[in-house]
Amino acid sequence: MSAPEPVLAALRGRPSPVCAYVYDRQALRERAAAVRAALPANTILLYAVKANGHPDVAGTLAQACDGLEVASGGELELAVAAGARRIVFGGPAKTDAELAAALHAGAQINIESGQELLRLDRLAAAAGIQAQACVRVNRATATVTGTHAMTGTPTPFGVDESRLGQFFALPREHVTILGFHLHAVSNNLDAAAHARFLTDCLTWSASAAARHGITLRVVNAGGGLGVDYTTAGTTIDLTGFARGVRVPDGVTLIMEPGRVLAADAGWYAAEVLDLKHTHGTWFAVLRGGTHHFRLPAAWGYSHPFTVLERPVWPYPWDRPSVSGVPVDAVGELCTPRDVLARAQPVERLRVGDVLVFARTGAYGWDISHHDFLRHEPPEFLVL
Ligand SMILES: *Cc1c(COP(=O)(O)O)cnc(C)c1O
Repeated sequence: MSAPEPVLAALRGRPSPVCAYVYDRQALRERAAAVRAALPANTILLYAVKANGHPDVAGTLAQACDGLEVASGGELELAVAAGARRIVFGGPAKTDAELAAALHAGAQINIESGQELLRLDRLAAAAGIQAQACVRVNRATATVTGTHAMTGTPTPFGVDESRLGQFFALPREHVTILGFHLHAVSNNLDAAAHARFLTDCLTWSASAAARHGITLRVVNAGGGLGVDYTTAGTTIDLTGFARGVRVPDGVTLIMEPGRVLAADAGWYAAEVLDLKHTHGTWFAVLRGGTHHFRLPAAWGYSHPFTVLERPVWPYPWDRPSVSGVPVDAVGELCTPRDVLARAQPVERLRVGDVLVFARTGAYGWDISHHDFLRHEPPEFLVL
């Protein structure tokens, strides 16, 4: 699957050695529209900024979605600057300063513990603001599966379901509890299972609200819609997703995906600086690597690439080239773990060509260890 022509054109225009992320705002808008169209009625679509906090990405998705989900003071600032109409603030370790900033920004807050509720209540009283919040719950059982499980298992996230009674017994004069936050999974590829998860969130929340004496207004089912990087173009299939999910009157379902909105709007490109053969393996050594795009190293998979041929060869010797062999795409770091792809066959690859890694718009640059070895960062080209 070759990159779209505008992406390739942007890369062709860059000086050698090419090293860039390309983000496409139109692709973001189209993805947001497709996801929104698949959701049940009475659902609010937020974008989880942690997937990609580039201001143009967050700004585009703030407008294309109903707002932004943020998980730090920095992301909160970004969301305010992006003009997000709605902000939800989560995260397991909020400081008083972050909670106060969230209150002043009018954000809805996902409370992660009893102690956090007490702190928020105190800050809301001091600010003269009635805080609007959901309680994040670590459910008694896992309800859906994917790459990372956050609930139904020991994690630092949310209030254990068995301790909700104690939570709701705490004083909360200045905090209105609107409902529950039940983010449970990352990278789920099974749409039917995710739809069942939504229904389960809604029914569980209704009974938990009744049990603990609150009026249920909001059920936040988090993110977790998945992308299969190793199979070209495979994404959770949202056709018919909303069928059978009914959000009761008076309740708003919040979905706050990151990956599924941003992944396909980003391309990471890195020029081949050298080709070498050691112990039977071909290596394409790149101007770039896992300090820019850490996901394949973090998850232990090969991220597919395509080759953008560059006609220019500035040196007086023969251009190194391989044909019809598998190559390992490795980066410029002094560690054998700096690997983006293993044994990917190439028709032809020459020094000076550019490898283009599609689907790198989510959890790419943002999760990478940029300062390790202090190479120049990539360029960021926004279409
Ligand atoms: C990470 C996260 C998301 C987004 O998850 P994706 O897998 O990118 O959809 C949403 N909500 C919360 C609370 C998160 O931590």
